[in-house]
Amino acid sequence: MPSSVSTRLLEGRVALVTGASQGIGHACAVALAEAGAQVALGSRNLEKLRVVSAETETAGGNGMAISLDVADADSVRIAVEEVVAAWGKIEILVNNAGITRDNLVMRMKLEDWESVLRTNLDGAYHCIRAVLPGMVRQRYGRIINIASVVAQVGNAGQANYVASKAGLIGLTKAVAAEVASRSITVNAVAPGFIDTAMTAGLPDAVKDKLLSIIPLRRAGSGRDVANAVRFLASDEASYITGHCLNVNGGMFMG
Ligand code: NAP
Repeated sequence: MPSSVSTRLLEGRVALVTGASQGIGHACAVALAEAGAQVALGSRNLEKLRVVSAETETAGGNGMAISLDVADADSVRIAVEEVVAAWGKIEILVNNAGITRDNLVMRMKLEDWESVLRTNLDGAYHCIRAVLPGMVRQRYGRIINIASVVAQVGNAGQANYVASKAGLIGLTKAVAAEVASRSITVNAVAPGFIDTAMTAGLPDAVKDKLLSIIPLRRAGSGRDVANAVRFLASDEASYITGHCLNVNGGMFMG
């Protein structure tokens, strides 16, 4: 098969990737652009987004940096309106923006519980609410929520984060059931231990322990996750919905 047929799977599609200024979101934006998509990149750091946006153009797509705080419903609404005003539609939403505020639950401050839930779970809800009316009208959509392996296995010291990611998997299934009749698919991707700024600060002993329980014996890359996202965003995944796809090197096989 000519490579142009297999690689430009998203030609003409419009995507919004949240948390695209670095890490997994950055990798997703570039991977979608390589497949021909126009990619709106949203996060709070516009300067960093502009750099990634230029990269998406080099990759063969079209980039647009958008200031966006997913925890703020108005900010999300304005960002989505901006993308639709410029490009007419949003067909692919990647809910990737996420934060951690780790502590044992007995010591966890309410503000740390709330900020993680507000960003990781409410943020996805705000974005889904903002893009769904357009997707329903165009009778096409792909929503991909970035969850985590810890939603499947639990993790001491991350009650807020684990709850937010488990909530995302539940949200994925509920919304998938609601909008399937409009040819909109909603899936989750559950990364394991991925080499990004989020995990860079882990103590070496923790990293070694994680590596020792990963059958593939390496940390994942943002690109490993982005490849799964790109597949779920494509027409090749049109009969997959309500699914949670593990990208974890075998760390959890559920
Ligand atoms: P990262 O390098 O820390 O990047 C997080 C991204 O989220 C940044 O682009 C940040 O951009 C954005 N963000 C944070 N709060 C935001 C907000 N309120 N509004 C908009 N954007 C916001 O983390 P990562 O490792 O790439 O993680 C990406 C996603 O994968 C997260 O949902 C994370 O939970 C999930 N995940 C990561 C791993 C891992 O091992 N790394 C494993 C499982 C799941 P700004 O600061 O510019 O806003």
